[in-house]
Amino acid sequence: MKDSLIYLDNNATTACAPEAWTAMSLYMAGTYGNASSLHYAGRVAHKAVEEAREKLAALLSVQKHELFFNSGATEGNNWIFLSILKSQPEKKRIVISSIEHKAVLLSAGDLANFGYEIVELPVTADGVLDLAAAAAQITPATLLVSVQYANNETGVIQPIAELVEMAHRQGALFHCDAVQGLGKSILDLSSLAVDSACFSAHKIHGPKGVGALFLRHGARSWPLKYPFQGGGQEHEIRPGTLNVAGIVGFGAAAELLHKHLPERLSYMTQLQQFLEEQLESNIPGCIIHGKNAPRIPNTTYVSVPNIPADMLLANLPLFAISEGSACNNGAIGMSYVLKAMSVSPDIAETSIRISTSFLNTRAELRGFMQSLCSVISHFAREEKDDSRS
Ligand code: PLP
Repeated sequence: MKDSLIYLDNNATTACAPEAWTAMSLYMAGTYGNASSLHYAGRVAHKAVEEAREKLAALLSVQKHELFFNSGATEGNNWIFLSILKSQPEKKRIVISSIEHKAVLLSAGDLANFGYEIVELPVTADGVLDLAAAAAQITPATLLVSVQYANNETGVIQPIAELVEMAHRQGALFHCDAVQGLGKSILDLSSLAVDSACFSAHKIHGPKGVGALFLRHGARSWPLKYPFQGGGQEHEIRPGTLNVAGIVGFGAAAELLHKHLPERLSYMTQLQQFLEEQLESNIPGCIIHGKNAPRIPNTTYVSVPNIPADMLLANLPLFAISEGSACNNGAIGMSYVLKAMSVSPDIAETSIRISTSFLNTRAELRGFMQSLCSVISHFAREEKDDSRS
């Protein structure tokens, strides 16, 4: 990475913690056994995997046997819907929010081709799921409700506890894509009664391509069929040779987070307040999406009036920020999240997402604000010149 680049795109991914890659390097070089092998090298790898599982379980306040390592949240979300497809249960109604990540929207959408009814719940103008609509749509015919913990674009936290209660009252399962909640709020799965949830290590300063699926009470309690087949690893939930080094890195990142979460949360909250005060006092007419809703403390999705986001980003080459979701970059059209919040296209197309981590500083945000303000002045001057000529 260029030394001069200021990284403000932590909802896309985070810097891998030195403690994580140091721990991983051991299992990539000398200690390379397969965690399923019965010989010494295998037993060492197996022990390392189980230690990582313990660290993640402690962070999430769950039992070790409720966690299954995989490649990340995309796989975890797909697993849930593939599991339904493979089981063909009697109930065919699935309720999701309209602002889910594509890993949920598209895998739920696929089920529509197999006779399932997919209901997408609306959100308010602040990006919070409409609970009245949820109450009307979650019926006794509902098999599964799937709602994300926090939105990757706006950072808005969803009313998961209320939704879980509604789902369970009607006999439905509840799945939560919790990838953007971990490390950005107190996510205690012992009190949040979701049936399943998924996570990615790279969002919490761990390595990419490794994650975990949480199934309450463990593999045997999952009422549907498992979608994958292979060597039986992870109690058949995720067969395939384990990514030992990645899992060790995930464990190290989880341990660090567990130790430092309260201070990281309060630090990111201060950064967010500082940034948003600066934006509102320096940029007349700017709109912070979801400002009045509960939000994770690292995300600010802001519309800068009159300057298309792609132009803004092209003029801020020293800052890693994004136009909404990284996973949608390159896609044509406005953000479906902002569309669901009834944001007009001209406001949506001028919106950029700044997502910090505990590694960012106030000085970096000050530098960002200075550059942003000078780009805005430059565009204003150009517009003035154009209107004169
Ligand atoms: N769900 C949400 C809400 C996300 O923000 C992301 C990634 O940004 C994912 C799922 C997918 O995560 P991964 O790419 O690590 O599989």
